[in-house]
Amino acid sequence: MHELSLSINTVDTVVEQAKKQGFKRVTSVTLAIGTLSCIEPQALATGFEFASRGTIAADATLKIESVAARVWCLDCQQHVEIPERGVSCPRCQGYQLKVEAGDELMIKHIEVE
Ligand SMILES: [Zn+2]
Repeated sequence: MHELSLSINTVDTVVEQAKKQGFKRVTSVTLAIGTLSCIEPQALATGFEFASRGTIAADATLKIESVAARVWCLDCQQHVEIPERGVSCPRCQGYQLKVEAGDELMIKHIEVE
């Protein structure tokens, strides 16, 4: 299960960062998921809940945002944004797209106390 291992890594990173800065509790975590990442937000949320159990992030509110993918089109030599995998360039309808951002999971914001 892809989302579970991602959740565990995310919780580890969040907890480590919060502890390093001397905080005792993580209250909120905002994650950004690229639209090309194939990550299921609901599965990620479930995984996060499981992975954070017993950690200082156990009560954290999880917010998940999606980020449009940015690609470089080799045909029209432009940066374009595409909503999902498998679609053509919105400018020239070409399929020679190189993904630059949008296939990853990012920790966007953490609130701590
Ligand atoms: Zn194009």
